Amino acid sequence: MEKTAKSPFRSYLWLIFVILIAVWLLQTLKGNSETYSYGQMKSDLDEGSIVSASITPDAAGNAGYVTVVFKNGLTQRVYVTNVSDSEKLLRDNGLDPVVRDRSMVNWVVNILLPIVLLAVVMVFLLSAILGPPPSQSANSKMFTFGKSRAVITNGDGKITFEDVAGLREEKEDLSEIVDFLKDPAKYTNLGARIPKGVLLEGAPGTGKTLLAKAVAGEAKVPFLSISGSDFVEMFVGVGASRVRDLFEEAKKHAPCIVFIDEIDAVARRRGTGLGGGHDEREQTLNQLLVEMDGFTENSGIIVMAATNRVDILDPAILRPGRFDRKITVQRPDVGGREEILKVHSRNKKLSEDVDLEKIARTTAGFTGADLENLLNEAAIGAAKGNHPFISMEQVNNAFIKTGIGTEKKSRIISEKEKKITAYHETGHAILFHVLPDVGPVYTVSIIPTGVGAGGYTMPLPEKDEMYLTKGKMLQDIMVSLGGRIAEEIIFGDITTGASADIKQATKVARSMVTRYGMSENVGVVCYDDDEDEVFIGKDLAHAKAHSEEISGQIDREVRAIIDDCYAKAKEIILQHEDILHKCAALLLEKEKIGREEFEALFSEG
Ligand code: ADP
Ligand code: MG
Ligand code: ZN
Repeated sequence: MEKTAKSPFRSYLWLIFVILIAVWLLQTLKGNSETYSYGQMKSDLDEGSIVSASITPDAAGNAGYVTVVFKNGLTQRVYVTNVSDSEKLLRDNGLDPVVRDRSMVNWVVNILLPIVLLAVVMVFLLSAILGPPPSQSANSKMFTFGKSRAVITNGDGKITFEDVAGLREEKEDLSEIVDFLKDPAKYTNLGARIPKGVLLEGAPGTGKTLLAKAVAGEAKVPFLSISGSDFVEMFVGVGASRVRDLFEEAKKHAPCIVFIDEIDAVARRRGTGLGGGHDEREQTLNQLLVEMDGFTENSGIIVMAATNRVDILDPAILRPGRFDRKITVQRPDVGGREEILKVHSRNKKLSEDVDLEKIARTTAGFTGADLENLLNEAAIGAAKGNHPFISMEQVNNAFIKTGIGTEKKSRIISEKEKKITAYHETGHAILFHVLPDVGPVYTVSIIPTGVGAGGYTMPLPEKDEMYLTKGKMLQDIMVSLGGRIAEEIIFGDITTGASADIKQATKVARSMVTRYGMSENVGVVCYDDDEDEVFIGKDLAHAKAHSEEISGQIDREVRAIIDDCYAKAKEIILQHEDILHKCAALLLEKEKIGREEFEALFSEG
């Protein structure tokens, strides 16, 4: 973490503290004249419980206040009509009262003190609302209240693409932006339009923030960074005004990069907030959109943003002229992991037995942050044991430690699991390749993508289709079933890993029957009145539009379609069993293969 999270809680505590002090001060200075009487003071003097006293004549001259201090430290104040009489009484009781200059005291107590206290309270109130002023290291121009709180670092090239290991494609996508920031005129002279916004999307710790910093470092331009959560405040309007300030500031520093980390905090889909639409976040988002629309394309400001929840973002921010470039930052593959390990072991003393390649192999699913953490834990372990170097033993210990600690986010995958995933994904990929209306395959990967998914096979659809044909839908079902079929062929056993595939296949088959009239036995009738699935329990509330008999028939028809697809798909995969083995082996070695490598397997055979 580069920036300590500010706690609004703390500033409110301060505020309460200051108010309490103020109240207490005023109380003690004014005393409590209603409950304490002259007679009481007299008897207290007789008792000897008063240790000192002071007299403050009031403006009228003769009269004034006597303030007495008791043995226990408490004070009381009493109004007296004759100051000199009171002074005599006190002296008779062995006290030496201080007689204050009334005008000074009155001025201090009645005018200066309230003003000072009020000012202090105001300052704290303001800073509670607007946050603490930026630290000294930030640009001095920023030392003003109400500013955006962005942290500006000059792109002095401290972090460059060299510090970002792996992520080759991502860096390549961004190099264009770097080039533009270096020399905007080159592009504007040709009338080229450069994207205004780049959205980096990917799992936490995959290097999004690092990548954004590296772009600024490569281009040597200022980097204004702010976190989405900095915009979200209790007070309505503050977020929007911070956005305005942020862009104001950016214009002064152009060409520059504005980086909004964790943008999902502000750019959540509008209208989904609890308790109605127009909340603070929505205003902030609107302001952000207005600002992004407001500056011209080639003003030299590039807005970068990062999120790990692209699914909850408001679609409006992805519209052209806003974040029109989306870059998915992937979890690293074996090679990428080795490179990341190399980067992070640069300043660490490793003993000779540490094999980074081997570590890379056993850490499928780890992100850059996980790997950095792994090496750091190993270094701590070595230091604790007073070893001069980090040895493989410490790495293994760290592996267990971090592995267990982060079990949920980056599961350590056993060889067996990896093998199953490799065959499963190959099953999908072969069908994508062989069947005419689907595919071709763009990437096959066995890098875990997140919760539950062991890998993925991504097709590259070549044509835009307006209508789905029955043939294409059947092929989609076959592709979905391919993973399960491969598992069955190779392992003679099946896993739970295919549940999402099965669900998908069933969904397609059911819509063929109930929505598109593609089944002869059921006929060209729509039995599907589900317009959308917004309401949970809609099925319960609505009576089914058809009889039990039709329901049974639909179920049988769906079943028949799936069974038929399963058999056909199995036949195709069996015909290509050699490729199944070859591709799975390649996947186990490289974890991710591209289109060329995959297609080469077919031409070899
Ligand atoms: P994100 O913003 O995606 O959550 P960060 O960019 O904050 O991730 O990465 C956290 C840390 O993980 C970085 O500071 C860096 O030490 C390490 N890291 C992540 N990805 C890489 C990478 N590709 N190369 C080198 N270090 C990386
Ligand atoms: Mg980050
Ligand atoms: Zn699958």
